[in-house]
Amino acid sequence: MNRPALPITVTPSPGESMLSLLLRAAAQYAVAPEALLAHCLGSTRAAGLSPDSLTCHTAPAVLAALSQALRIPEGQLIPLTLSASFPSAHEEAIAWTSAARDMTTREETPSGQLRGAWCPLCLMEDRAGGSDHALRLEWALGVVTFCPHHQRPLLERCQTCYHCVERPEAALYGDQVALVCPACATPLDAHFGFDYVSHAHAQHWMRDAEVQQAWHRLIGFERQVLEHLRQPEGQDPAREALAFHALLGLMDSVLHADAPNSLRPLDLYESPYFPAPPKLSGATRHLKHPYRAAHLVERRKALALLIGLLEGAPQAFGFDPAHTTLRAARELMFPGCYDAFERKLLSLARLSLPA
Ligand SMILES: [Zn+2]
Ligand SMILES: [Zn+2]
Repeated sequence: MNRPALPITVTPSPGESMLSLLLRAAAQYAVAPEALLAHCLGSTRAAGLSPDSLTCHTAPAVLAALSQALRIPEGQLIPLTLSASFPSAHEEAIAWTSAARDMTTREETPSGQLRGAWCPLCLMEDRAGGSDHALRLEWALGVVTFCPHHQRPLLERCQTCYHCVERPEAALYGDQVALVCPACATPLDAHFGFDYVSHAHAQHWMRDAEVQQAWHRLIGFERQVLEHLRQPEGQDPAREALAFHALLGLMDSVLHADAPNSLRPLDLYESPYFPAPPKLSGATRHLKHPYRAAHLVERRKALALLIGLLEGAPQAFGFDPAHTTLRAARELMFPGCYDAFERKLLSLARLSLPA
């Protein structure tokens, strides 16, 4: 193996996130990305910053210091942040995505940590093409649950040991960096399964035309959201921005159990195309990991459910049309929760009317 000349400079890959670049650069020196940050910025300036917070937004002074220390032009570092590449996303969508549940109080608070989601095919292509594994910036957005390129669900669990990967670790494989599961060290592109689905079932999914059709409807929607988030933020909140805001509010009320109702609206409905174990967060509450308030599979199911309800065609997403109605929801939910849910639905519906 030809050893690279020191110091080693990594080149950002298209669509990569800042976290990913820092993971790759730190792996070259066998240190954690936090240690690399402290080295590049000095411990005073690095205090309070994390690879995740820098992925959300990097202040110009920090960007200049990183550019100098890592010998990467600033122009190549800027697109690695959500605030630059998805200017319409950066506050709300991200705080919503990075919420974590406090194990003692059960409250959901922004943890500042981005979710770990990946497409194993994208990662496999990275390595086959002779590059390092790279996490894509768009995978950090909570409203993206499919890989737009391979049109398959993103993953958040290691397909070997089923550990929920909050943040992958980077390991050197020859002269390439692979992202691996922190629990079992298997590269994230080793298996192509789906979260919470058996291998046999996953194979069946790939051949089932109805499943594929339901996925494509959702992928089309997620593409539109991504396009909107890439647009610069306007002076006046545009209709798309208001609609996005309303949608996040609806997702919240579907995903979270409001007191005194311990049932989450999401758990009242079942779809074989979008399985999400009910009470996923409840089942993992006793564990030590800071599990996400809403797992990837839950967000995907919530999106499918909402779009099914809004389009009046829940069966297209595999939900039982007789039970997936607003009336059924009203009967099952506490009045206060249902009223809030209906108000948000109406405000979203109003936005679709001609101005
Ligand atoms: Zn992909
Ligand atoms: Zn694992």
